[in-house]
Amino acid sequence: EPSAELARAEQLILGIPDYPAPGIIFRDIMPLLADGPALKATVDALIAPFLGTFDVIAGLEARGFLLASAAAYATGTGLLPIRKAGKLPRPAASVGYELEYGVAEVEAHSDLPKGTRVLLIDDVLATGGTLEAARELLELLGYTVAGTAVLFEIDGLGGRAAVADPNLHTVFTSD
Ligand code: AMP
Repeated sequence: EPSAELARAEQLILGIPDYPAPGIIFRDIMPLLADGPALKATVDALIAPFLGTFDVIAGLEARGFLLASAAAYATGTGLLPIRKAGKLPRPAASVGYELEYGVAEVEAHSDLPKGTRVLLIDDVLATGGTLEAARELLELLGYTVAGTAVLFEIDGLGGRAAVADPNLHTVFTSD
């Protein structure tokens, strides 16, 4: 039964206190990734609301790559890796955003036709800065964001409000 499998999958996301800094609870999805049925149920739940609405799946470096790749294979669509700054070999579109300490950038090549419908995937939604920058990057490239799907939403950090995509879907939420 899929919901029982999902409930089990949720237990495989560990909350690691004070990593990488004091006061942060790091959501470690590695045990979930390591479990075949949990991974399958989770990827299925991630994409379920969006089936038939996208042409390609974008994943955010690095853990978003893992989920996006599985979802792309499951749906027979292509993969658009969104990278951190300075790692792409050709001229790339770039969007900067602010971190708690410092700034960061997300980048992607312009290899798809304008209007390509993209489903954006990442593992964890915290402040939403990363996903919002990625969403802006996709728009800058002329693509259409079909939706945003995240495995784990941390409640109380304003992430949901920061992401300007009305079609934001999260599978698990912190309590
Ligand atoms: P944010 O931009 O604040 O929403 O942060 C989201 C990005 O940072 C995602 O790519 C996550 O992988 C990572 N991240 C932020 N906070 C956490 C956390 N508590 N546990 C695991 N990953 C996190």
